[in-house]
Amino acid sequence: MSRLDADTAAALDAADPLAGFRDEFHIPAGPDGLPQIYLVGNSLGAVPRAAAGYVNTELERWARLGAAAHFEGELAWLPYHELLTDPLARLVGGRPSEVVAMNSLTVNLHLLMVSFYDPTATRHKILIEDHAFPSDHFAVESQIRQRGHDPAESLVVARPRADEETLQRDDLLALIAEHGPELALVMLPGVQYYTGQVLPMEEITAAAHDVGARVGFDLAHAAGNVPLALHDWGVDFAVWCSYKYLNGGPGGVGGAFVHERHVGDRSLPKFLGWWGQRPDIRFEMGTVFDPIGTAESWQLSNPPILVMAALRASLDVFDRAGGMEPLRAKSQQQIEYLDFLLAEVIGDRVESITPAALAERGCQHSLRILMPGVDGQAVHQGLEDAGVACDWRYPDVIRVAPVPLYNSFTDIHRFVDVLARVLDEVSR
Ligand SMILES: *Cc1c(COP(=O)(O)O)cnc(C)c1O
Repeated sequence: MSRLDADTAAALDAADPLAGFRDEFHIPAGPDGLPQIYLVGNSLGAVPRAAAGYVNTELERWARLGAAAHFEGELAWLPYHELLTDPLARLVGGRPSEVVAMNSLTVNLHLLMVSFYDPTATRHKILIEDHAFPSDHFAVESQIRQRGHDPAESLVVARPRADEETLQRDDLLALIAEHGPELALVMLPGVQYYTGQVLPMEEITAAAHDVGARVGFDLAHAAGNVPLALHDWGVDFAVWCSYKYLNGGPGGVGGAFVHERHVGDRSLPKFLGWWGQRPDIRFEMGTVFDPIGTAESWQLSNPPILVMAALRASLDVFDRAGGMEPLRAKSQQQIEYLDFLLAEVIGDRVESITPAALAERGCQHSLRILMPGVDGQAVHQGLEDAGVACDWRYPDVIRVAPVPLYNSFTDIHRFVDVLARVLDEVSR
């Protein structure tokens, strides 16, 4: 049996202690009616089979109890968001007092920049990356304007070197040092959405703190993908969404982390809402704000119970799988297996712009078609037609993300098989 054979993939699946979790998810069907090779968990994670039950429970409680469901039983809606805190804290390496499920990613980014971007006449710059997700770019730019500064002067942009795709650690650290006394905030992704690069979050945090700047991370592509230790790294704040690797469903509830040393700091500027008020006095309806002593004090509104119920179903799966450590171990094996098959079967017809070193990547591979005259978008269409769910990112990258919770080694083998066939077809 060659390592290239489907038998090898089947043997890897048979030896995989996490293989059974695949059955806990619905995998959409492809054009042939069979389950797709679903490699877009970086875009919308698959739905846990248990999610419908969790959501239905809340619909039933609503039907049976009405408004009383806010107060009754273990699933009472008033403290419902607390059910998500511990599992989320485990996934991002935070303490429960530092983590809250609320709003959506961009909203949380704004709320936390209100607190952690506090520009002065001399220290007013925000460092971002040149390929930042548009929403992050817009949020940062508008915060700079909102605070009376000009993005032309206050926005510092980190770029890859000429002819390189990813950011170099030394360049980032040098840029932080260069703008040191003027730098108010470093706002970077944990995992870059386009290239899949994992940034050295711990070193960036230390470098930013060395020059007196604060650090926030966007973990949209990091949460549930790579191990995180936000508390130990000393990160000031972080935000994420739950519909990618956390399988929380479309528009699912976002998350936020605020480091313990800031959580009780009443001098921080903050936008307030009634859900940040201590719950024991909230319904006295007074107008003197007395914040909850945790990251929950950043909450504004009463939370969306139905989408939180769906996310709970997924977080339970993460916990039963043993958390990020075993998942990352499987993911590394899958990354290496996909690298191996791409090198052997596809060769130089495709290049990966994702860093090669395991420490600098999660499960996403960002692939660029290198065949002269071949349109990458046609390749993407060919893959979709053959039952591979993957995505096309302008201008020329196909992203595939084998997710260890529900993608098998056989998925990876079949993907490379289909890719080879599609490349043959489009070059004919
Ligand atoms: C997915 C993603 C978002 C999405 O923001 P929403 O507010 O959840 O719509 C933002 N930033 C990054 C880096 C993302 O990958």
